[in-house]
This record gives sequence, C-alpha cells and structure tokens, in this order.
Amino acid sequence: MNDGIFCSGQAAIFRLVAEAIADMAPSCGFTGPDLPARDIYDQCVRCGLCLPTCPTYVETLVETSSPRGRIALIKAVSEGHLDITSPGFVHQMSECLDCRACEAVCPSGVEYGQLLETARTQVQRALGKRAPWHVRMLRTITIGGLFRNYRLMRVAAALLRFYQRSGLQALLRRSGLLKALKLADLEALTPPISTRFFIPRDQHWASHAERRATVFMHVGCIMHVAFADVNAATVRMMQRVGCDVIAPSTQGCCGAIAVHAGELESGRELAKRNIIAFEQSKADFYLINAAGCGSTLKEYGRLFEEVPEWRERAARFSAAVRDITEFLDAMGLPPGMGWKEMVVTYQEPCHLVHAQRISAAPRHLLNQIPGLILREMAESSLCCGSAGIYNITEPEMAQQLQRRKIENALRVEPEIIVTANPGCALQLASGLRAAGRNIEVKHIVELLDEAYARAEAS
Ligand code: SF4
Ligand code: SF4
Repeated sequence: MNDGIFCSGQAAIFRLVAEAIADMAPSCGFTGPDLPARDIYDQCVRCGLCLPTCPTYVETLVETSSPRGRIALIKAVSEGHLDITSPGFVHQMSECLDCRACEAVCPSGVEYGQLLETARTQVQRALGKRAPWHVRMLRTITIGGLFRNYRLMRVAAALLRFYQRSGLQALLRRSGLLKALKLADLEALTPPISTRFFIPRDQHWASHAERRATVFMHVGCIMHVAFADVNAATVRMMQRVGCDVIAPSTQGCCGAIAVHAGELESGRELAKRNIIAFEQSKADFYLINAAGCGSTLKEYGRLFEEVPEWRERAARFSAAVRDITEFLDAMGLPPGMGWKEMVVTYQEPCHLVHAQRISAAPRHLLNQIPGLILREMAESSLCCGSAGIYNITEPEMAQQLQRRKIENALRVEPEIIVTANPGCALQLASGLRAAGRNIEVKHIVELLDEAYARAEAS
C-alpha cells in the first residue's frame, strides 16, 4: 500500500478522525433517532481500498473527505461523540457525491449509499430551519415542487425555453449581470429545453419486428423536457429490437433527487405512484434511459424494506426495471446500421457503473456501430461532479471534478463524448463550453438510432 495515500491501521484512522472531530464541534452527545444500523458501519474494516476510487478524496487527499473517514464520522455521531449538526459533519454529508464508487469496490460489502442517505435524512431532521436559506429554497423548489409534478416541470421548462430562445439569455450573458449576481455558474448548467416535450399520454408504439416484450417507458423529469429526442430515439430502438412501447400518463418522478437528499418519505410517495402505474400497465419491463433514475428505481425494494405493506410490491417492481443499455445488449441489436467514421469516448455515469454495475453493455453496443472508434479516457468511471443537485450545493468541488473529467476526455481527442445520464450530459456540455471546445455530447441510444437511420435513409 502507498502510505502517502492510504493511512493503514486503526490507530491512524482514529487519530485522523479524532482530530477532525476536535475541529468540528465542541458539543457532543447527540444520538439521532433511526441512525444507520450499527452493523452497516461496523462492517467497515478500514482497509482503505475505497480511497482511490473516491472523487472527493482523490481531489483533497483529506481522510474525512473519504468513504472511510465519513463512515467513522457517522459512527462517531451515532455513538454520541459528535453532534449531528456540527458544521464539519454536515459539510461531509453534503460533500459526498453519493456516487457509490466506494461501495462497488468494498470487500466487506459496506452499503455506503444506504448509510449516507439515512445519515442525510437525520441531518435534515436535526437541522430543520437552521439549514442555509438558499439550500432550503432549492429543496422546496426542486423536491417539494418541480420533481413532484411533471406539469409544473413543463411550465418551468417552457419559461426557460422562452428565456433561452427570445434572446434574453444571450443579452444577460453578455451584460455581465449574471456574474455580478453570482448566478453565472448556475445559469450555465440549465439544460437547453427541447422544442417539443415528450409527454406521457398513454401512447402505444407497436414493435417493428415480431413482438418479444412490452416495455413501460419511464419518460423522466428532465428527460421529457430537455432530452425529448433521446426519449424518441429510445422508442425507435425498442421497436427495432421487437418491443411494444407504452408510456402511461400515471407515471411520475422516480424520487432519486429526494432520496439522495435524505428526503426518504418524499421519495417513497413518488415511488408508490410508479409502482401502481407499472402494475396497472401489465408491461413486462420498466425501461429507463437515465442511469441516475434507473438506480433509484432498482432500489425501491430497499426503500420500502421497513414498510411491510409495500415491501413485496416494491421488490417485484425493481426486479422488472432495466436500463436501456443492458436491455438492448440482452435483446441483441438487429442488423442494418449504416457506416460513419467517428471517434468517441465514453463517460461512465456513476449510477450506471457503480450503483447498477453496468459497464460492459454500453461499450459492447458502441463497438457494434460501423465506423465508430471507441477511445477510452482515463478515469472514465470517476464522477464528473454532476450528481443530482450537487453542482448547485457544492459548486467548487463540482467544478474541480468537471475540469478533471474534461481534461481526461480531451486527451483522447474525441469528436463525440458519449454518456447515458442527463446529469452527466449537462455537466460535460457545460465543462466543454467553459473550456472553449465545440465537441458534441450524446446519449448512447442517439448514436445507435442515428446508425440505423443512416442505413434506412440510403
Ligand atoms: S473499502 Fe469498505 S471496508 Fe475498506 S475502508 Fe472502504 S468502506 Fe471500509
Ligand atoms: S459515495 Fe462517492 S464521494 Fe461519497 S464517499 Fe463514496 S466514493 Fe466518495
């Protein structure tokens, strides 16, 4: 082991954490109710194997910014040695991206995501109205409003589209007003809104080949207003591989933003809606093309573990969820793609590679596109800094990780950067703009759809 990076041995860990605790708060003794089950954090044997995979540790080389350090902090709070509202603890629970890279490599099977999300819930409860006003406002707007209601999301998106296309955006960007109001970084992250929204209206698209399955299409909050073309490409790809596609109007947000922010009750309310919609649809699979939503949908079983009347229904639902890349790979691509030479690199969404452990399928699909050259970037699975609303709540770390990702991507000189999650796509696009580079960012399903369209047009 490299001692410069890994602090091996329990004594060293406890010394580092004790120092961090001393820096954080003088007040101790709070033990929050429902803190993560002791057996989860006690599973950590402090081996340090997770450290080099952790984006915040790699950037800071600070023990408390590592998975091992955060687990020790959670344990300290749980045992009453540290106040749950101490600024340092609150900061660490917020600085973690919930990217789950640590969980994927942990030899002890520590379910870090569960630990973090429960700890965040407790922090929210303990902080209450003491949280900074802008964080409370952001939570109210997103979790309490936009992500609860597709209609509200479409109203906000329509206003944003007017702002983007009326010339107001260009005017404000030139004026310097956004910078003066410290809104420039936030504004740069707003997605270009689609010309037409992809609204679920109980559509039924028939398979173009012999029908092999019926899939329930989850249209997604951001996806249906800002990535409507990706959703349309998803439907066409499903038809090509032999699926009927339905888009029930009763579906809603997956709850990922709420769950990751520690608002578990809000997450459960949203989840129930999707479980009921899927049960009523009688579809074979629940299909999703956004990795962040997919990992939450696949974990509804866990979300309802303590709710007996929903536990089994949630587990059945999660067992039917498929990411578009794993589904297409399992179904097999039919012949008929057109050739086009292009160099692409692939950015792995955390919630696809770490949370869902899907890494080979996207590459297998890309390598079947005639003329496509896949050049692997370094650290393709290290978080790009997007992580839900992270680039709003932790802008500095988000930008550091964004720069790192863009530098790694540019080193392989791609014409297109491919990914499979809207948050990553937006983060990459804004990073490329900041770097002054005119390189396209696309979802895998768009490249596949374009390859078929080339052949169909000729
Ligand atoms: S890899 Fe697992 S057991 Fe090892 S320090 Fe990280 S969380 Fe703990
Ligand atoms: S979830 Fe990601 S950022 Fe958080 S501790 Fe684990 S590896 Fe680090």
